[in-house]
Amino acid sequence: MKLRVLGAHNVESRHTRMESHLIDGVLALDAGSLTRSLTHDELRGIRAIILSHRHFDHVKDLLPLGIAVRNEGVTIDVYAIQDTVDAFAKRRSPNLRMHAVKFYEQFKVLGYDAMAVPVPHSVPAAGFQIGDGNVRLFYTGDTGRGLGAAWEHVAPDVLLTEVTFGNENEAGARAAGHLTPKLLMGELDAFSEIHGRTPQVVVSHINPAWEDAVRTELADITAATGQAFTIAEADMSLELGRESSRVLEG
Ligand SMILES: [Zn+2]
Ligand SMILES: [Zn+2]
Repeated sequence: MKLRVLGAHNVESRHTRMESHLIDGVLALDAGSLTRSLTHDELRGIRAIILSHRHFDHVKDLLPLGIAVRNEGVTIDVYAIQDTVDAFAKRRSPNLRMHAVKFYEQFKVLGYDAMAVPVPHSVPAAGFQIGDGNVRLFYTGDTGRGLGAAWEHVAPDVLLTEVTFGNENEAGARAAGHLTPKLLMGELDAFSEIHGRTPQVVVSHINPAWEDAVRTELADITAATGQAFTIAEADMSLELGRESSRVLEG
């Protein structure tokens, strides 16, 4: 499974793009920066999108994508929980086919096995486990602390997780349903208690004002515990493997 990071921040600027990733060139995870990041040919290659929740930094480029490929005879399947589908009820593009998925129900998207599980956030939100038969990825979307219930249902090899703020803003993270490095470590401890191991971890959705702090604090955790983190960056490509993953470019 090849994971291409398109946007790894929660806000857009000249130097940051909003949350979005692409699996094997065909399946997008969130749509914060699809049209912003991809060539027209690459946009035409997208066959399905999984949306974690309705917040703007995760859906911004959905309608621009629909417009970009509407003359290509391409229909793109979009999978999300009902709350997210409802948010697009009045802003539909005819070539985006919306599918409401239920928590804990496995579904097939393209050749992948997928499942949504609830994650704690300020609006209804889902994390998604996506497997290709070889490797299992869990994408948190936006989440606050309290993933213990999710870990009962998924056992990913690779965790693609948000860390929005630095430890100093733990109160803000708790209030808005986001993670800091310290809070993430608590979630990984909970994962370890259930599964007896920790997954490989890729960190995304960083708020630019906190990026230096997040990087420093994650490096401190690595030094203290040995838990490694890959910090996602726009245009980074990773080959995901069950035991280890490697950065192809970026
Ligand atoms: Zn977000
Ligand atoms: Zn959000």
